[in-house]
Amino acid sequence: MKLYNTLSRQKENFRPIHGNEVRIYSCGPTVYNYAHIGNLRTYIFMDILRRVLKYNGYKLKHVMNITDVGHLVSDADEGEDKMIKSAKEQQKSPWEIAEFYTKKFFEDIAALNIETPEIIAKATEHIPEMIEFVEALVEKGYGYETSDGIYFDIGKFEGYGKLSRLDLEGQIAGARVSVNEEKRHPADFALWKKAPREHIMQWPSPWGMGYPGWHIECSAMGRKYLGDQFDIHTGGVDHIPIHHENEIAQSEALLGKPAVNYWMHGEFLLVDNGKMSKSLGNTYTIDDLKARGFNPLSFRYFCLNAHYRSKLNFTWDALKAAQVSLERLYEGAVAHKTAEGKVEPEVIEKFKKEFTEAISDDLNVPKALGVTWSVIRYGIKSKALYDLLVDMDRILGLDIHKAEKKEDDGQELDPEIKELVEKRQQARKEKNWKLADEIRDRLKEMGIFLEDTPQGVKIIKKRTD
Ligand code: AMP
Ligand code: ZN
Repeated sequence: MKLYNTLSRQKENFRPIHGNEVRIYSCGPTVYNYAHIGNLRTYIFMDILRRVLKYNGYKLKHVMNITDVGHLVSDADEGEDKMIKSAKEQQKSPWEIAEFYTKKFFEDIAALNIETPEIIAKATEHIPEMIEFVEALVEKGYGYETSDGIYFDIGKFEGYGKLSRLDLEGQIAGARVSVNEEKRHPADFALWKKAPREHIMQWPSPWGMGYPGWHIECSAMGRKYLGDQFDIHTGGVDHIPIHHENEIAQSEALLGKPAVNYWMHGEFLLVDNGKMSKSLGNTYTIDDLKARGFNPLSFRYFCLNAHYRSKLNFTWDALKAAQVSLERLYEGAVAHKTAEGKVEPEVIEKFKKEFTEAISDDLNVPKALGVTWSVIRYGIKSKALYDLLVDMDRILGLDIHKAEKKEDDGQELDPEIKELVEKRQQARKEKNWKLADEIRDRLKEMGIFLEDTPQGVKIIKKRTD
């Protein structure tokens, strides 16, 4: 299979280091707030990568970190600590904040059928590994101490900027003057920060009480679980110029060789063609989608329609269209489920081949989804095609196997039942709960189950044979 490597700006043939096992590191969430749908798009991309690798027979060892130590408001070591800011605002401890949003994050990704990586690594549980990493860098001459921390000396690392291909001098000339006069170069970044007494999260270190820089977190935890060199590192495109550039600098300075073979980045989700921002009130969450009556999986479907390296623009109308398509996809799958038509094995093979080729070409899921639709629309309805759709859903993750025939909406109910349902509605209106319950029980005996929902009564007909 082929994967696009940000480092080479090319699609490359994928070859793992450790035989059949693929080792992956994904930058995880900073848990000081709810994940927004942009963040979640990046984790859907991560999930698709996992699923495609598994579909192609690989085993996975995949680490995702949870940044539960606050990193600073800007990626470049300036501003307030996000976690502590959120804790202050909510009058909770940073640990409580982290615990709350971590739990929420896992609920959100579960709602989107995003698989949880094999290893979840919390930053606060890996402080000794980070200190050790920083010590080694200092020893090798790549780290230096200032009055407020230990910094990485990018002037000593030759390859700095190779991932983003940035013109460092140009970038710095245009940037604000560094607030830290003690830094040797404005782009030098913190490996470790010395904590003022009032800083809530702090740990003992050879440099006194303090807390780790954000970038060292990923380098240290990746190395601990995946070894000095591993296969794939993922994140959103915003991580290319600072976070991942800094990770490369730290790890390569320590090892003298690259730690990661393939760097992969998911493009941004835009909202109404612009950046999501708190001030515009458009940083939507999964709960916002649910509150508007959307199935979270329609957001997943919406994301599958675009390649992970393309920008994707979110609007409520586009989400509505995705939800309608997903419903049609379910209906189409169900039409094959119990059908008795016969389809030649060659037809199935051809579909499967096209699908596998698409996903193996740098995760071309939009194309693969097109193949799925061809299966659904195939002239002959057949259980064999249903099984193929369920197999494709190992990649799509849309719960095709759960799709059922639509429940009766009352149209085809026989008149006796219809009358009873209406009678019960009337009884409920008159608050005659006893009668309403009696009717409900009678219907139950007839195999008709009622469910009262905010949209009205739902009638579920169970087969009695
Ligand atoms: P954070 O919790 O801020 O570290 O972000 C979590 C992940 O979401 C990172 O991989 C970011 O690159 C990614 N991300 C942030 N904003 C967006 C967006 N608008 N669209 C897609 N991914 C995003
Ligand atoms: Zn990271």
